[in-house]
Amino acid sequence: MKSWTCIEKCGACCKFNLNERSDLADKLDNDDIALINLMTSEDGWCKNLDRETKKCLIYENRPHFCRVNEFSTSFKGYLKSGDEFLIDCCKQHISSNYGYKSKVMKNFKIAISGK
Ligand code: SF4
Ligand code: SF4
Repeated sequence: MKSWTCIEKCGACCKFNLNERSDLADKLDNDDIALINLMTSEDGWCKNLDRETKKCLIYENRPHFCRVNEFSTSFKGYLKSGDEFLIDCCKQHISSNYGYKSKVMKNFKIAISGK
């Protein structure tokens, strides 16, 4: 069975376009939205992401909505299907930012298969 894990040198979920995320409307408060707007560069990538290494520069202090295990509890209904919801979210982010056939996607698939 596949289990979700985050991989290094990805950062695909660190790009926001709140206009395309109506599903988050009831999961983010006004402070969260203000913070996201502050953190987001014009091209949509978070200013706290090191573009070279794809590492978060404020990892220990990152906001709650960047903590996958915490934030994903807001999606209780979806989490009934185990890790599949999280895996699908990562695949969507990776696919839209790097491409479905990208090296990052390949690495992610290997990581979740536990090989
Ligand atoms: S998209 Fe998934 S694998 Fe990539 S950085 Fe975000 S949580 Fe990790
Ligand atoms: S704060 Fe860190 S984890 Fe959150 S989006 Fe920015 S770079 Fe990614």
